[in-house]
Amino acid sequence: MMSIVLLGPPGAGKGTQAARIAEYLNIPAVSTGEIFRANIAAGTEIGKKAQSYMDRGEFVPDSVVNAMVEARLEAPDVQGGFLLDGYPRTVEQAQVLRDITAKLGRPVDLVLEIQVDEDEVVSRMLKRAQEQHRADDTEPVIRHRMEVYHEQTVPVATYYVDQDLLEVVDGSGSIDDVWARIVEILDRMVGPRA
Ligand code: AMP
Repeated sequence: MMSIVLLGPPGAGKGTQAARIAEYLNIPAVSTGEIFRANIAAGTEIGKKAQSYMDRGEFVPDSVVNAMVEARLEAPDVQGGFLLDGYPRTVEQAQVLRDITAKLGRPVDLVLEIQVDEDEVVSRMLKRAQEQHRADDTEPVIRHRMEVYHEQTVPVATYYVDQDLLEVVDGSGSIDDVWARIVEILDRMVGPRA
């Protein structure tokens, strides 16, 4: 049983690694970006509120994000642990998460920060833009998302260093290279699976 937060810049391959971690530890992956995209596709109120922010590479307001995460973490399937991808993205969100998880009696056990070279990240994202046609993967929006990441999300890593929860993962190389580094950390924390 583990509650894990995955940090890293846009394009660091968080989504791919999140899916692998979730499968490896048999816990649900909760991605706020994915939840927003599903809401936009379904035309919900949350989707309508989120879309313009996402298209500009801005953060969706905390009032929307925090309530959505709180509702998601109250669901039965995450009571045995979860992997959060894309949240928290600000120190304020990290504080809200601490309150939510304290209330649920399931505090965050581990924060993994995938660190990558910024030029590598931008080129990866431009490639993804071609493949997936995401509205927020155009070059100016990508650059803006990197700026917002530095301003708002890098301090979240420091917040978790202070709580002694942060493990840094070298995000260079292939998906399998990064995955091997993550498995090493997970096995060290919870013992080898399978
Ligand atoms: P992602 O798929 O994690 O890159 O998220 C895509 C977009 O969803 C972000 O650029 C934001 O506009 C929005 N988003 C996702 N998670 C959050 C969050 N924790 N706080 C604010 N906005 C978010």
